[in-house]
Amino acid sequence: MYDWLIVGAGFAGSVLAERLASQRNERILLIDRRNHIGGNAYDHYNEDGLLIHQYGPHIFHTNSKQIFDYLSRFTEWRFYEHRVLAEVDGTLVPIPINLDTVNKLYGLKLTSEELQEWFSQRAERVPEIKTSEDVVVSAVGRELYEKFFRGYTRKQWGLDPSELDKSVTSRVPTRTNQDDRYFGDEFQFMPKHGYTSMFKRMLDHPNIHIMTQTDYDDVKNIIPHRRIIYTGPIDEYFGFRFGKLPYRSLRFRHVTLDQPWHQPVAVVNYPQTNDYTRITEYKYLTGQVHARTALTYEYPSAQGDPYYPIPKAENQELFKKYERLALTTPDVWFVGRLATYRYYNMDQIVGQALATFRRINETLPAETDTTTARLMPSSAALAS
Ligand SMILES: Cc1cc2nc3c(=O)[nH]c(=O)nc-3n(C[C@H](O)[C@H](O)[C@H](O)COP(=O)(O)OP(=O)(O)OC[C@H]3O[C@@H](n4cnc5c(N)ncnc54)[C@H](O)[C@@H]3O)c2cc1C
Repeated sequence: MYDWLIVGAGFAGSVLAERLASQRNERILLIDRRNHIGGNAYDHYNEDGLLIHQYGPHIFHTNSKQIFDYLSRFTEWRFYEHRVLAEVDGTLVPIPINLDTVNKLYGLKLTSEELQEWFSQRAERVPEIKTSEDVVVSAVGRELYEKFFRGYTRKQWGLDPSELDKSVTSRVPTRTNQDDRYFGDEFQFMPKHGYTSMFKRMLDHPNIHIMTQTDYDDVKNIIPHRRIIYTGPIDEYFGFRFGKLPYRSLRFRHVTLDQPWHQPVAVVNYPQTNDYTRITEYKYLTGQVHARTALTYEYPSAQGDPYYPIPKAENQELFKKYERLALTTPDVWFVGRLATYRYYNMDQIVGQALATFRRINETLPAETDTTTARLMPSSAALAS
């Protein structure tokens, strides 16, 4: 008899497995339908000996010392600040848009104050910012919106930014200084030996039994367990009874080149050309020294694994129906990005899992038969 069946060995499932095993001495069966642990953060050495991220580049960044300290128990870190360039009008320029982006693109020599004025002359007045288009045209005007955001978003989401919630483009700031870092967080590091190595240490506990290539449906009626932590898609858990929650997917093309470097930074975005959105070169992220270099091309797709919940009001309404059902389902805790149908960064999911653990601890005495239904509210994901 396991105390917990944990479905999904990504950040959500693995953090909870570690906490429940080490802090409550409970017995855990952790399953994943994929053939590995780590969820979307899984990395591995390819046949050429280069460390790559199977599901696209994962860069760790957080403002939470608590989350950083927690993960530091399982890994050493490598300092890394992420930088991205975009190929616009045939030139590579920094994204997020900053002082150098505008000066390089337009052959100008503006100062920060002048750039502020330059933006306000071009910014459009939008009475209420609702969509992803509103966010950008109200900040930098239509021309930069067209060059950097419109084509990229249409490729990435298969939707025009005017059809997408403001949350998508709000994630990318605009700067009037020369700061070309992609993220502004206090802690920006990569796990020194990779994510998978960090997950292995996290899950190295005699109370945690791991089964990969195992689907929830295969074991749910066979392996005895008291409670469930479910980090898979919430609509799938309930047999899609209200309909399918829409996701955007990606196809990854991994290649190795017989040369030491390919591009000047880890990620180059292609908002105007090509059918892929971006190319990642991993040696910048991993610090690996190697005569060859590994790249990943990302091709957005309507079909495939569920990666990005599509942020539209009607999808949230559908999710709310599942959420209500989840709240009345005893002994199952729904945690993680697929179960809460929202795009979260890795640190936010670690925060959500740690907050869930605290709630479990508050409401369930260890190793008893108390029956409780729990759904982690989306807002709790940001709990530090
Ligand atoms: C392309 C891409 C790039 C990203 N880059 C970054 C980044 O740079 N920085 C950052 O902070 N975040 C990034 N993220 C987000 C990051 O991937 C997530 O925050 C994180 O993976 C969420 O962890 P999770 O445990 O909730 O979900 P997941 O990692 O998806 O894990 C869920 C696991 O559950 C398994 N599962 C689902 N259903 C079942 C079932 N029925 N039976 C068995 N197993 C099941 C799945 O196989 C999966 O392994 C990126 C995401 C994507 C898609």
